[in-house]
Amino acid sequence: MSISDNIHFFESQLAGTTCRLVTVTKTHSVERLQEAYAAGARLFGENKVQEMAAKQPELPTDIEWHLIGHLQTNKVKYIAPFVHTIQSVDSLKLLLEMEKQAAKHNRIIHGLLQFHIAAEDTKTGLSFAEAETILQSDAFKALQHVRLSGVMAIATNTSDEAHLRREFSELRGYFHELKARYFSDNETFREISMGMSSDYQLAIAEGSTLIRVGSAIFGSRN
Ligand SMILES: *Cc1c(COP(=O)(O)O)cnc(C)c1O
Repeated sequence: MSISDNIHFFESQLAGTTCRLVTVTKTHSVERLQEAYAAGARLFGENKVQEMAAKQPELPTDIEWHLIGHLQTNKVKYIAPFVHTIQSVDSLKLLLEMEKQAAKHNRIIHGLLQFHIAAEDTKTGLSFAEAETILQSDAFKALQHVRLSGVMAIATNTSDEAHLRREFSELRGYFHELKARYFSDNETFREISMGMSSDYQLAIAEGSTLIRVGSAIFGSRN
């Protein structure tokens, strides 16, 4: 299966649903990204700032770039001119830096709150209480150039389907709680980013609106 075939496969899987595909392009060459673009991919996910900033000028301007990896505040400036969504928001400090850099370019940067739902300690993200502390702060309420559009998480690396479903359902629960408490009149807050190559079907069944798929499109990464 070619990259193009794989993009078409995922688009057909998602047809008729409200879930969209984020094509995870990390480690792949600009030529391979162009092939994905030609097949219709428009949301691209990268996990490293330098790599995203290097590729972006080589590709069409109607791509929505999503940063999906941990982001240090001092690196926000490199992607602020173009990044659409930072999916890995895990602190108020990061939101404040996004605000500062987005303001400089007179644009809006979207963010997803990343939650820790996986069993492994190594995976980063907020607890529900930490997210609420951010959302209740005056500093958050004053943001003008940052728009939170939902939640994101990386599930445990396991083939245990019941376990994965519980984690996805936990994230969906967080989304609905936050929506009811803080974003009930805010149409922008609507995304639940969950599901990757190995577990996207379960994630869709549990309400994902953004699946992040890399290896099932491009093959395994070196
Ligand atoms: C790499 C990555 C993905 C895609 O993983 P695949 O298993 O290749 O589909 C999804 N989400 C995040 C946060 C990633 O870093």
